Amino acid sequence: MQGKSGGEQVHGHAYRGRFAPSPTGPLHFGSLVAAVGSYLDARAHGGEWLLRIEDVDRSRALPGAADSIRRTLEAFAFEWDGEVVVQSQRLDRYHAALTRLRLDGEVYPCACSRRAIAACSPVPAVDGGLVYPGICRAGLPPGRAPRAWRMRVPDREIAFEDRVQGPVQQNLARAVGDFILLRADGQYAYQLAVVVDDAAQGVNAVVRGVDLLDSTARQIWLQQRLALPTPTYAHLPVVTNAAGEKLSKQTRATAVDASGGCVVLAAALNFLGQPVPPEIRSGSLRDFWRWAIATWSMARVPAQRGVFPG
Ligand code: GLU
Repeated sequence: MQGKSGGEQVHGHAYRGRFAPSPTGPLHFGSLVAAVGSYLDARAHGGEWLLRIEDVDRSRALPGAADSIRRTLEAFAFEWDGEVVVQSQRLDRYHAALTRLRLDGEVYPCACSRRAIAACSPVPAVDGGLVYPGICRAGLPPGRAPRAWRMRVPDREIAFEDRVQGPVQQNLARAVGDFILLRADGQYAYQLAVVVDDAAQGVNAVVRGVDLLDSTARQIWLQQRLALPTPTYAHLPVVTNAAGEKLSKQTRATAVDASGGCVVLAAALNFLGQPVPPEIRSGSLRDFWRWAIATWSMARVPAQRGVFPG
């Protein structure tokens, strides 16, 4: 395991990255790509790599999936630093962040059902929902009870430089509108949990799938309003099936077979634009990781999405 000392610096601190799978099923090839990319980038910088289980959305978490993901990572000989952090055990932190935003006037209660929003905003949002038209922004309609809490967003571009995708900008007012931090079912939103956790864990380099690119401006806005640092971002191409859908439980992605060892890891690395020589593919996991850490280059990662090989 690589230590903190001697590692490269990100914003003046030693590099600290993470892999943050949602336990909605066993590890599939798409998540393995994110694990490999984030791991190699961290180790190639002499940095730390944390594992966080993102089960804040209890309705999507599958019993046993977190253990299964962890065992699969172990079988591939990934080595994470420190304890595994589990979001469902950190609700008090999300509560504290929301309270702070409430005291600062950054959030407001919202009484709107999905149907009410659809009735007055037909504008599709980047997250697959509808742009929130601000119905409750100036206060709850008389006699209506709050269902959710929403974050106020500015009507201006939020820009960042992605290490793989290049310059990215998004106007949150147009892309999503004021977005939900605490849902009507009482669950904290992923956007809040990920920002709170990355900051609390000192994560300063985020490497993840490009399917989360559209969430990044929301996360940067939250970081700014909570006075938290913004990490660097690298959004890796995501693996799609032949129909062009992202591999996920919903698209019936098959679990990766950890007994495939280096051959499976080599497929993930090849997907990230780093072809693996035959002798490494047929060698030990130890030699595979040593070679992969030494040769990793984010500059070679293609920006475009790719199709699952096979
Ligand atoms: N839990 C998210 C997922 O599995 C990843 C979140 C992140 O990397 O920021 O899609």
